[in-house]
Amino acid sequence: MSEWESVIGLEIHAQLATRSKIFSGAATAFGAEPNTQACAVDLGMPGVLPVLNREAVTMAIRFGVAIDAEIDHHSVFARKNYFYPDLPKGYQISQYELPIVGKGRIFISPAEGERREIGITRAHLEEDAGKSIHDKFPEQSAIDLNRAGTPLLEIVSEPDMRSAKEAVAYARKIHSLVRYLEICDGNMQEGSFRCDANVSVRPKGQEELGTRAEIKNINSFRFLERAINFEIDRQINLIENREEVVQETRLYDSERDETRSMRSKEEANDYRYFPDPDLLPVAITDEDIAAIRAALPELPEQKKQRYIDQLELSDYNAELLTANRETAAFFETALVSAPGQSAQLANWILGDLTGALNKASLETSESPISPEMLAQLISRITDNTISGKMAKEVFESMWQGEGDADAIIERRGLKQITDSGAIESLIDEVIAANADQVEQFRAGKDKVLGFFVGQVMKQSQGKANPGQVNAMLREKLKT
Ligand code: ADP
Ligand code: MG
Repeated sequence: MSEWESVIGLEIHAQLATRSKIFSGAATAFGAEPNTQACAVDLGMPGVLPVLNREAVTMAIRFGVAIDAEIDHHSVFARKNYFYPDLPKGYQISQYELPIVGKGRIFISPAEGERREIGITRAHLEEDAGKSIHDKFPEQSAIDLNRAGTPLLEIVSEPDMRSAKEAVAYARKIHSLVRYLEICDGNMQEGSFRCDANVSVRPKGQEELGTRAEIKNINSFRFLERAINFEIDRQINLIENREEVVQETRLYDSERDETRSMRSKEEANDYRYFPDPDLLPVAITDEDIAAIRAALPELPEQKKQRYIDQLELSDYNAELLTANRETAAFFETALVSAPGQSAQLANWILGDLTGALNKASLETSESPISPEMLAQLISRITDNTISGKMAKEVFESMWQGEGDADAIIERRGLKQITDSGAIESLIDEVIAANADQVEQFRAGKDKVLGFFVGQVMKQSQGKANPGQVNAMLREKLKT
């Protein structure tokens, strides 16, 4: 049996966050009653003309600049012809030969400390189609055209990924980027961010690419990983059984965790692409591009590097904190109130806070614990008011809405005992009451120290500073 290498390229459709459609004034808001947000242009009525939404173009350029891409100064809309009931015009307005964004790249970290460059072939503007609904009426299909004409940016990668894990890391990176850029809300349940995965396998060391299958419309990162892994196994099995992989479009069924054939692959010439005579070419000047570049926010990659260089965070923590803009903002706000505590803050945000948010299905912006509250909690650990263990209790109480850290510490009497005189007298009591154990310790049985620490902590009702207790006990027991 030979060894196989999998090759993956992704096409991502990011719905651009404009208020109106790409070629009409109809609204794009999600969740409206069916067919209330489709105007004559979206319906393809005779005599109507599309007018390009400037904001959609700006957003596409923002993306292009952020991935270091060549921006085409002259870009053309084309008609992609096919028939489907949810496409009233009989063609989709897309871009073919002259897309707005050309070759670019992005970096992924599929594992800690790893960094790989993934090429982006192109990103083009297009309109979305409507939606066919097959489960509303028993004998008929329904069509909702609200989505028709919604602006999409289709982002096409090079076949640069070598595993499902890398593909997911890439998709997450693009997801994070479009949200940083505020060009897409990234909501996968609502279909604002959808992935098609092209998957092939080839013998390790072979240059030529294998025949690919394209898996359509995957709407979660978990399904993306599972669909790709299923597909890799399926193709390897086929080849090892001397059967052939056919180039086709497949659908991922998340309930059965398998991919199924949908249709054989269409070629570009099946679509009879030609420049749309209703739309002028888009002319973009260097000044336009420069202005958009100047307005870019700090991007995840730059932020991550700054966290590593200036805040001395680990590569891993910096990657996680910057993966989403809200988490990074939470961290930076908290850092203002607890300067110098970046490592502690990172641990609490990525550990306890993220855990609690996930468990309650809350977004960072909905956290009952504000950045300032978390900063105060951490300051109380650093200034030795409370121990790490007490901090967990305070965190829990803050989460339950019992006030800020200082109020909870006060009310619950959680202050740590750090007065060495007080700790010393506790130690003396314990030593006096346990002569046998003192003997054992002096005879070289180091383990007994744990017993003494436990006793002193018990005497102090858990409030003595454990570090101090440990150090002072060692001193005392020596003599
Ligand atoms: P289309 O799907 O419209 O035919 P392309 O041929 O440009 O478009 O390819 C679309 C995607 O498929 C790209 O992301 C590309 O990287 C990927 N791709 C092309 N060939 C392969 C292959 N043999 N294996 C895996 N991915 C591939
Ligand atoms: Mg495709």
